[in-house]
Amino acid sequence: MTKQSPKVGIYGFTGCAGDQLMILNCEDQLVDLFGATEIRSFLMAKSDNHEGELDVAFVEGSISTDHQEKKLIDIRARSKVLIAIGGCACVGGPQAMMVGDGKWEERFKKVYGNAKITVAKANEAKPLDAVVKVDMYIPGCPIDKTEFLSAVSKLVAGKHPYLYQFPVCNECRWKENPCILYAGKFCGGPLTKAGCGAICPTLGLPCVGCWGPTDDLNVSSEYQLLKEKGYDPDEIMKKLRKFGGAKLAELVKDIEKKGAKA
Ligand code: SF4
Ligand code: SF4
Repeated sequence: MTKQSPKVGIYGFTGCAGDQLMILNCEDQLVDLFGATEIRSFLMAKSDNHEGELDVAFVEGSISTDHQEKKLIDIRARSKVLIAIGGCACVGGPQAMMVGDGKWEERFKKVYGNAKITVAKANEAKPLDAVVKVDMYIPGCPIDKTEFLSAVSKLVAGKHPYLYQFPVCNECRWKENPCILYAGKFCGGPLTKAGCGAICPTLGLPCVGCWGPTDDLNVSSEYQLLKEKGYDPDEIMKKLRKFGGAKLAELVKDIEKKGAKA
């Protein structure tokens, strides 16, 4: 009996679609990817898309409308494994940087004025796991091709993919880069999930945290360390929020509440 190819669906919600484009950009591996799996739904790549049971769903983007929320719940119900791809899906993305500050409606009004929104009711952006259970996270802005392909090949082989759980600093140290923090520039590497190969510090640029926050980050202590080094507290807060999404916004809010600026 021939082994059945896993049924896969690739979906996108609020975001720039960069992760889906990165999948399309797999070029040489794309034929193998489509050959080893049965791609049931991938709106950006094919027109014959089907709903139905899935082995794996890859989902990009944050959830920003009631309609998206319903659609995600439906995808979850049909999928054995649901994987969040990219910063927006994993943590909410830059659109969730000010989440929970109570000023979302004010900002919405500032941008859209009194325009009547008829298509969908917009909500404050949230990551996928604020709505459904997420089995795995592939971070990045956009995701890394190699990390994505490695995860897919492991899933096809019935194995659990290994994803980095440590910060960018580890990859940076392995490359023996001189530390940018010691050169007096702010670098978000200690707070950011590894996986990109510390590409920015390797090129002499500070990490802006686009892979999203590490799972075991200690924001308070990093904040104190940066403050002791003379970095401007407002600047630190802005940079921490940028790609940290909903998860980091909550932690930053706690620091602000405790009067860390004092
Ligand atoms: S340059 Fe940035 S990523 Fe590299 S070790 Fe220093 S703080 Fe960490
Ligand atoms: S900003 Fe940081 S996480 Fe993003 S690619 Fe550069 S080094 Fe990697």
